[in-house]
Amino acid sequence: MKQRPTTVDTTVKQALDQALQRFASNQHGKNASYIPYLASVPSHLFGISIMFCDGTHAEVGDTEYAFAIESISKVFTLAHVLDEVGPEALRSKIGCDPTGEPFNSVIALELHKGRPLNPFVNAGAMATVSLLEADTAQARWDQIQTTYNLFAGRGLTVNDEVYQSEAKTNQHNRGIAWLLQSYGYMHADPMEVCAVYTRQCSVAITCHDLVIMGATLANGGVNPITGKRAVQARNVAPILSEMTLNGLYDTTGDWYYKVGLPGKSGVGGGILAVVPGVCAIAAFGPPLDVAGNSVRGQLAAEYLSRTLNLSLLHEFA
Ligand code: GLU
Repeated sequence: MKQRPTTVDTTVKQALDQALQRFASNQHGKNASYIPYLASVPSHLFGISIMFCDGTHAEVGDTEYAFAIESISKVFTLAHVLDEVGPEALRSKIGCDPTGEPFNSVIALELHKGRPLNPFVNAGAMATVSLLEADTAQARWDQIQTTYNLFAGRGLTVNDEVYQSEAKTNQHNRGIAWLLQSYGYMHADPMEVCAVYTRQCSVAITCHDLVIMGATLANGGVNPITGKRAVQARNVAPILSEMTLNGLYDTTGDWYYKVGLPGKSGVGGGILAVVPGVCAIAAFGPPLDVAGNSVRGQLAAEYLSRTLNLSLLHEFA
């Protein structure tokens, strides 16, 4: 049986140092530019964090830089909606299958008569937001924010510059929201939902926040630092299933092949990997590959997964 660490020790610290050294100078990829703010984030930033279920953690690089959570937010909104509606309703109204198309594809929606297929493409994420029981945009937002704060163990805030930048340029998402409504998969006012979705993508987090949020999933839904429950234990497996199948856009299979872990990335440059019952890894590096995943973040996760035997397939990896 290959040994895995269960707490921060010298092997873990060395692996993190090595990952930083090996990949910090990697110049591949480009910042997202379709959201103007993201193009302006310094590309050289790079941070890696790991946190175990016992709350011990180790971090290297720019782990205190606040970046936009973007698509990683979809994981935590999903968590709250699962607690409200349950996994069966979520699966029948949205699904857990890859679309085989980019995250903002209209074609994917048309092909499946409006069914988004999973909550991590933009259509599915907006449909998820629309499932929240709320009468106003503020009430919808409050639920989302409360959940994110439980996961992070502190009060997160929206970066208004990111929000304004996205809100001015999100015509494509607004189109998707209307299309969802025309097919019967939008369960609240489409423009209200799109605005709340845009706001959730604009939440500012650090790599340190992200690793706590991931460690909360690894720990069965209980934040290992605060001891507070952020999501019901029975909903953790559905979340990790979605991450396993759909977490890294249309190269999720490549990621699983190399890292062997449920993951989620965002176009802000963040990336999260969860080792159930053990730990979470978070990384931040703005340049993305063509699919929209942080280049250095993926390399760091792959390196740590291999070096520390973290892959779920580690017996054979
Ligand atoms: N706010 C971004 C969008 O809706 C998030 C995309 C992402 O990170 O994948 O396009």
